[in-house]
Amino acid sequence: MREAMYWEAQGNRVRCALCPHGCSIAPGETGRCHVRRNREGTLISETWGLIPALALDPIEKKPLRRFHSGSWILSAGSYGCNLSCLFCQNHGISQRGADHQGNREGETRVVEPQSLVEEALALREEGNVGIAFTYNEPFVGYEYLWDTLRPAKEAGLVTVLVTNGFVNPAPLERLLPYVDAMNIDVKAFTDGFYRDLCGASLDPVLETVRRAAARCHVELTTLVIPGENSGTDEIGALARWIASVDPSIPLHLNRHHPDYLMPTPPPVERESLYRLAETARMSLSHVYVGNV
Ligand code: SF4
Repeated sequence: MREAMYWEAQGNRVRCALCPHGCSIAPGETGRCHVRRNREGTLISETWGLIPALALDPIEKKPLRRFHSGSWILSAGSYGCNLSCLFCQNHGISQRGADHQGNREGETRVVEPQSLVEEALALREEGNVGIAFTYNEPFVGYEYLWDTLRPAKEAGLVTVLVTNGFVNPAPLERLLPYVDAMNIDVKAFTDGFYRDLCGASLDPVLETVRRAAARCHVELTTLVIPGENSGTDEIGALARWIASVDPSIPLHLNRHHPDYLMPTPPPVERESLYRLAETARMSLSHVYVGNV
């Protein structure tokens, strides 16, 4: 663990300024992400260096289709997320804090930043191009990103963040010089979806897309859930908004599967997903369907 960045003391509480939730955290408690705790008046990043998930993945699995295509990337994940999506497909680590590590099957390693960089370099012979922070929400472990991305870049590695984009502009801008590519979830194009299903809001995510697209390679992912975010009008509006930023930004429309607290609806029909992709292609150059 390590003292967090982006917080201020408020009496015996602390206010975290990392993401738009702006949690005011009582002594001993964590913020909504489960991993940033008020410990005796100091905000602590509890998951610093904790890596329960580490794998060499095809870069297309992030998904990134137009960035180092055909290569592999060392993919690391920790605990916690600042969204609470009812349909989360990674809830085993995303909706847990560091105190869960002893209860989880498999090994949680403590990996120093330089060790992760060296591990990534050692895998170059197997086609590895760098390090991706993925599986849980990487920004809630901001300090580990800050401590790892810079030596990774200095070592000549490619750096990737797979994120929900729900982060404040100042910490985002500070990190972007050390990020080569991002896949950002735009979970829907309505604030109601973000409020009711994710416990968040849409505008900060769109702001992250705008800022990131100006500084690094960006691809976007929408997990299509029938009846929730699958309307032709909604996907069309999303695609037109993306095109207003840059029509060459790739959009991945992925099929969801029932998970976590949303056992229904069943996955979208493949033909419906292909039709949504055609709608998006009216505005965008690169639209992919996934999980089909
Ligand atoms: S990063 Fe976590 S503690 Fe900080 S404001 Fe967001 S949810 Fe709250």
